[in-house]
Amino acid sequence: MMSIIIPSYNEEENIENTAKVIGGIMEENNIECEMIFVDDGSRDRTWEIIENLSKSNRSVRGLKFSRNFGKEGAIFAGLKHCKGDCAVVIDCDLQHPPALMVEMYNLWKQGWQVVEAVKASRGKESPIYGFFAKTFYGMMKSSSNIDMNGASDYKLMDRQVIDALNDLPERITFYRALSSWVGFKTTKIEFNVAPRNAGVSKWNFKKLFKFALSNLTSFTNAPLQLVTVFGFIFMFAAVVTGVISIVRACQGFPQNGIMPVMLFSTSLIMLALGAIGYYLSKIYEEIKGRPRYIVSIDTDSEK
Ligand code: UDP
Ligand code: MG
Repeated sequence: MMSIIIPSYNEEENIENTAKVIGGIMEENNIECEMIFVDDGSRDRTWEIIENLSKSNRSVRGLKFSRNFGKEGAIFAGLKHCKGDCAVVIDCDLQHPPALMVEMYNLWKQGWQVVEAVKASRGKESPIYGFFAKTFYGMMKSSSNIDMNGASDYKLMDRQVIDALNDLPERITFYRALSSWVGFKTTKIEFNVAPRNAGVSKWNFKKLFKFALSNLTSFTNAPLQLVTVFGFIFMFAAVVTGVISIVRACQGFPQNGIMPVMLFSTSLIMLALGAIGYYLSKIYEEIKGRPRYIVSIDTDSEK
C-alpha cells in the first residue's frame, strides 16, 4: 500500500477536489492507497471537510493538529502515522502534478527507495523569491554538500527511509534536506510547478526568511566559525601595521603604536570566541543526535 501525506493549512477549497483527483488516479492505476490529510491547525472549514470525507471514503484519513505547527510538523506527523510500504508527500493545492505519483510508484516497484520530484521550472514566482531560493540552496550546497537545486517536498520514500527519518531524534527538522541526508537508492524525475488550484500561498517573506535561517543553521556550523576567520584577518592586520610602525619609528617618525595593539587584542578576543564557537558546534552536532550511519542492506537479515 502507498501512503499519500497531504499537509493542509486553510485549504477548505482544495481538500475535496484533491482527494477526488488523487483517488481517481490511484484507482485508475490499481494502486492501493491511504490519503492522510494532516490539518495543520486550520482556521477555516478544512477539518470539517476532512472528517466528512474520512467517513464517506475509506482511503481518506485525517490528523488534526491542536494549532498551526507548520508544514514540517505536518509532514513528520504523516510519516509517523502512515501505514504504507511507501509514502509520498504532496501539497494540497495540486501544484505538484498528482499524475506523477504513478511514475514514482513504478520506479519504487523497480527498486528505487527515494524518488525525488525535481522542479524543472519553478512556476510563477517573483524574481526576488527566485534569487533568495538560489542563494539559500547555494549556501546549503557549499556548506553541507546537499544539492537542493529544484528540490521540492514532493517525494516518494520506501518504508526503510520512512523509518530512518522517524528514528531521527532531532526536533528542528528540515524534511527536504534530511530526506537526502539519510541516503538510500535515490532517483529523480522532473516536473513543472503548476499554478495553485485554489486559495492563496501560506508563505510570506518573513516566514521564508526564518525558515531558511533555521535550516541553514541545522545543516552547517559555518557562521559559528566565521569569527575565527576574522580573528586571523585582524591578527594579520596587527602584524602588518606593527611592522610598519616599527619601520617608521626607526626612520625617526614619531609613532604611538596604538593601532597594532588594538588590532592584536581584538584578534585575540576573536580567536577565543572562535574556539568557543568550535566547541559549541561540536555540542550542537552531538545534541542533534543524528545516527553516525544508516545501514540499508544487511545480507544476514535477508536469510
Ligand atoms: N502548509 C501547512 N502548514 C503551514 C503552511 C502550509 O501544512 O503552516 C501546507 C499547505 O496547506 C500546502 C503546502 O503546505 O498544502 C504548501 O503550502 P503553499 O501552497 O502555501 O506553499 P507554496 O506552494 O506557495 O510554496
Ligand atoms: Mg502551493
